[in-house]
Amino acid sequence: MSQAQEIAAFGLELVQAWRRTSASRALIREVQERRVRLVLAAASRTRFYGGRRLERLSDVEPVRKADLQARLDDTFTDPALSKAALLSFVHGGAAPGTLLQGRYLVATTSGTTGHVGLFVDDVAGWARQRAVVFARMFQGLLTPDGFAMLARRRYRLAFVIASGGHWLTSILAGRMPTLGRAFADSRVVPVDAPLPHVVAELNAFAPLLLHSYPTFIEVLCAEARRGRLRIDPEIVSAGSEPISQACREAVRAAFPRARLVETYAATECLAMATSCPHGAVHVNEDACVLEPVDDCMRPVPPGTDAPRVLVTNLSNVVQPLVRYELTDSVTIIDEPCPCGSPFARIVVRGRTDDTFYLLDGDGRAQAHPPIPIEVAFLGVPGLLQYQIVHEAQNRLRLSFVADDDGRPSEVAAGLEDRLARYLGDHGLLEHVSYVVDQVDAVERHARSKKLRQIESRVGRPAGEVVAAIAARR
Ligand SMILES: [Zn+2]
Repeated sequence: MSQAQEIAAFGLELVQAWRRTSASRALIREVQERRVRLVLAAASRTRFYGGRRLERLSDVEPVRKADLQARLDDTFTDPALSKAALLSFVHGGAAPGTLLQGRYLVATTSGTTGHVGLFVDDVAGWARQRAVVFARMFQGLLTPDGFAMLARRRYRLAFVIASGGHWLTSILAGRMPTLGRAFADSRVVPVDAPLPHVVAELNAFAPLLLHSYPTFIEVLCAEARRGRLRIDPEIVSAGSEPISQACREAVRAAFPRARLVETYAATECLAMATSCPHGAVHVNEDACVLEPVDDCMRPVPPGTDAPRVLVTNLSNVVQPLVRYELTDSVTIIDEPCPCGSPFARIVVRGRTDDTFYLLDGDGRAQAHPPIPIEVAFLGVPGLLQYQIVHEAQNRLRLSFVADDDGRPSEVAAGLEDRLARYLGDHGLLEHVSYVVDQVDAVERHARSKKLRQIESRVGRPAGEVVAAIAARR
């Protein structure tokens, strides 16, 4: 029963979501408002909102992950669900993507920030979110009769991901066989398998769509450049980590025929934003509401950087997530896109959690968000990958993997030079210590296998925080 429901929900939403990509802005608003009302009606039934009747989003206070998780038992609309039931399911050896009580999918966040979260939705809700992502991924690649063609070609999708716990990507991959039989062939390759094995699997399968983490896509691009990986994908889709400029350039060089699709997803809402054929990232306003806010949860207007964003998931009526805080830095762009999409554009800069707070000579904390740091290391010759960790106050560790044809000592010198210049430009050279280390592989998070290229293990200091402004540009 649930399998038929899942395929029906996916298929129906796929067709409708694909049509909406060329619909009017007014129609999108209408769909969004209708779905908001459904989610608010569901939220009104939970103990979390005390049975209050919620009519508008603005009636709902923003909610933080810790507050929601602390009252988890109050967040479900089905009384058969409880924190205890979810915990015993995920710790009881059930494979990721299998169903709880015959209809629910349970996801945990990997806890890269130290807080593990538990989330639940029914299979139909997940399928609808997923259908929106697929519809946007194939935007412009399908002709009106393209769905029939898609079925004839048996689209081959490869997911190179963490396949262990109950997190987003392993659940998606785990549900793929069900959807796959109806729509495509899929294969999951564990990202932590030996690289030659990953390459051999991909060569044998010849995927038309390749999905992985941006940092691992870079590794695969290097394998393609060396002639070991011989695939010709139409779509390279990247998610779970912020995507770097270096990754974009590597994909362009290694897979010139492929469109790089960026997805902005979270366990709490899978289909937040997807990039279009013009490379702009559009909010999937038929799957979510995104509200950029400042540190005090006040709305931030379009065109202005917001340090966090509130998400309302428009599919989940099992555990309604309304104005739920994500600590990602985003900017809404209020300009039309040449692709003609009716959906608002967004720039996602990624996790504000990983801002480096470095103390200057006067003891003030300078805030260094991830992107400028990343830009400082663009185009170091012979560099395959790196990770920079703020491991103790004003102490940085930079680990790197040299390319096959790169000389490690030269790469190390290049990185040190860039880092010293970056610190010098901010008046920090005498106050920040660092080590540069060559490694065989950059360390991924033990369970989620995500790689945080720019990672802070140091919190925001209590005192004054000032923006980091470089002396030279
Ligand atoms: Zn566009």
